[in-house]
Amino acid sequence: MLAHGPSRYHRSVPAPTALRAAPERALRSSLLWLSRRRSVGRLATRLPVTRSMVARFVAGETLDEALVALQRLRDAGLRTTVDVLGEAVTSVADAAAAADEYIATLDALAARGLDRNVSVKLSQMGLGLDDDACRSNVRRILERAAEHEAFVRIDMEDHTTTDATLALWRDLRPINAGRGDSGVVIQAALRRTPADVDALIAERARIRLCKGAYVEPASVAFPDKFDVDAAYGRLMERLLADGAFPAIATHDERLINRALRFVRHGGIAADRFEFQMLYGVRRDLQERLVRAGFGVRVYVPFGTQWYPYFMRRLAERPANVAFVLRSILREGRDGRAPTS
Ligand SMILES: Cc1cc2nc3c(=O)[nH]c(=O)nc-3n(C[C@H](O)[C@H](O)[C@H](O)COP(=O)(O)OP(=O)(O)OC[C@H]3O[C@@H](n4cnc5c(N)ncnc54)[C@H](O)[C@@H]3O)c2cc1C
Repeated sequence: MLAHGPSRYHRSVPAPTALRAAPERALRSSLLWLSRRRSVGRLATRLPVTRSMVARFVAGETLDEALVALQRLRDAGLRTTVDVLGEAVTSVADAAAAADEYIATLDALAARGLDRNVSVKLSQMGLGLDDDACRSNVRRILERAAEHEAFVRIDMEDHTTTDATLALWRDLRPINAGRGDSGVVIQAALRRTPADVDALIAERARIRLCKGAYVEPASVAFPDKFDVDAAYGRLMERLLADGAFPAIATHDERLINRALRFVRHGGIAADRFEFQMLYGVRRDLQERLVRAGFGVRVYVPFGTQWYPYFMRRLAERPANVAFVLRSILREGRDGRAPTS
């Protein structure tokens, strides 16, 4: 076990915790709102202070930089999946270029003998802009993945894309089935998820379970973190018991300990699932799980389009915002001017 104490899931939040959570929720919503503001993104990508903080979560702006990070992670016994950063493209040409980058990434991973595993966002492939173009971009990636026997994970974005994402994956899944395979992501925060999980388990889908990184209306998602965590625990156990090599994607040590207890009591072998975590988050926990004999895959993003991804990481942990503010103040004191 990685930490002490039983896991407890309360339906109601104790008052002081609820009070503390209110400003955090407001900060999170503001950061997630900012993550969708392109003008702020353009400014942020020019500031040196944010760039140094970004390096913690992003493995570089180029494929070559990412390859160095991937090699280092592999040497530490970690598995990897690569995300070529970008989302919500505004032109069909940009979507096609992003697919080309994924194909170049798959070629590079195969050439260097690194983990052949990528994670793709459909809004980067043109979903919502030109659905036919999106389909053809994903098809191209899956065809190249089949050549390299590479795994392709379709990331999940906000709830307005859930149906289209699952439909496109179901349609194109045969392209590299048995030749690397593909899978989807399910968000515990969404109220619809238990039904999706039932259907996907019946299809033997490879599922990554995450909490959900987007601001969603209460009509479709649990507004309260306690409910999200409780839903995550239930779905996680369902997937560990019946899923096809599920990926337990969380840094929540309480949930990870619950998973460890569940697999120990259920006699579920470590090769029937894996943990997944983000690059730069809880590296200590990643290493401890590897040392304990569990598979851990790190989600490794790279590229110049890091702004929305970075803002979601800030939103997940208020301490990250404090770190950025401290860096800005330090930079101001040292008198360094931002570069253009
Ligand atoms: C491999 C992977 C893939 C993902 N793919 C998707 C996806 O396709 N769609 C989607 O909506 N979401 C995705 N997510 C994000 C996910 O939904 C959550 O937003 C994110 O993982 C934070 O939730 P948590 O489970 O770690 O729990 P939390 O309760 O948010 O965090 C638990 C603890 O983890 C640590 N922690 C968490 N985040 C950070 C951070 N940014 N910086 C520092 N410490 C942190 C803190 O110690 C925190 O107390 C993915 C996450 C992972 C790990």
